[in-house]
Amino acid sequence: MDLGIRGKRALVCAASRGLGFGCAEALAGEGVDLVINARGREALEVAAEDLAARFGVSVQAVAGDITTEDGRGAVLEALGGAADILVTNAGGPPPGVWTDWGREDFIAAMEANMLAPIALIQALVPGMMQRGWGRVVNITSMAVKAPIPVLGLSNTARTGLTGFVAGTARQVAGQGVTINNLLPGIHDTARAAALDAGAAAAEGITPAEARAAREATIPAGRYGTVQEFGAMCAFLCSDRAGFIVGQNILLDGGQVNATL
Ligand code: NAP
Repeated sequence: MDLGIRGKRALVCAASRGLGFGCAEALAGEGVDLVINARGREALEVAAEDLAARFGVSVQAVAGDITTEDGRGAVLEALGGAADILVTNAGGPPPGVWTDWGREDFIAAMEANMLAPIALIQALVPGMMQRGWGRVVNITSMAVKAPIPVLGLSNTARTGLTGFVAGTARQVAGQGVTINNLLPGIHDTARAAALDAGAAAAEGITPAEARAAREATIPAGRYGTVQEFGAMCAFLCSDRAGFIVGQNILLDGGQVNATL
């Protein structure tokens, strides 16, 4: 299927590896020119060169912390203030117990997983509306559908973003702009490996045993791949997906046990 987005321009945040990279890779494969972001410059530049070489698209690497105004300012400047496609993403908050977190922890989680995506939407969606076409995909988490006990900061901040998107998506769809959320379950990334290492240390088992235990909770029997995740992101960003508005799409191998 031709997704109809060749020649469009996208910002993909937090994209030097993992789910963000999977989204950037899938969009590059559809002929989309990219601005990609992450804090670590070296890995980001390697990722940008790789995508440009494999897919023949323009890929600009802008290093910076997307949860800060300076970081967002740098990517918006590189874009000249305009993009056709926005994929928001940032690192996830640390695990813990609900009694662990104070005000500053909640503020940091909200900066990363709620306020940064909202600021980017507010910066880029008005131009998309003026031009009559745009796509926004926010990488959130299955924690929005089914809370993950050790990720209370994520449960909280991402649900705030989800409420903002639910209201806003309906206000911009008439100008050809869709906003949707992708909810990853467990995917094979550095973040998943770090959570496995944390669980292994807490339970006195090996990381491989922790992973096997988590895989056993997933009906698909395995972790998702960043390529599978990126393919769904590219579809939501496609011209074909113009009637999908304000949705929360779960990619979890069946892990959330719910009828709807
Ligand atoms: P990952 O493999 O650790 O990759 C994170 C990427 O984001 C890296 O490129 C990292 O590069 C960049 N990054 C992190 N913080 C950033 C910041 N403040 N500004 C700019 N770039 C930043 O993580 P992932 O597994 O792809 O996860 C991506 C998001 O999905 C996270 O929010 C995570 O909580 C969520 N999620 C993941 C899973 C999963 O199973 N993998 C499941 C549910 C939700 P630098 O470190 O160089 O900045």
